Amino acid sequence: MSCFLCKGTLRKQTTNFMTDIDNCFIIIKNVPSLVCSQCGEISYTDDVAAKLERIVKAVRQAVSEVAIVNFQDSVA
Ligand SMILES: [Zn+2]
Repeated sequence: MSCFLCKGTLRKQTTNFMTDIDNCFIIIKNVPSLVCSQCGEISYTDDVAAKLERIVKAVRQAVSEVAIVNFQDSVA
């Protein structure tokens, strides 16, 4: 698998995912990611992307301002 931007080599690495929705900040730690060794672009496998989406939805409903979630601990 290679980077869709620059065709560089992707390395498996855990990263932190951050997003904000309506002034609610959500940080998800220890996300299994693919990081381009050339341009640093971060991408996720379909499974991981789907789980991230589920976590964000679940957290958004439960939290009003800031949430920090560990990807590995989440059952979403
Ligand atoms: Zn790249």
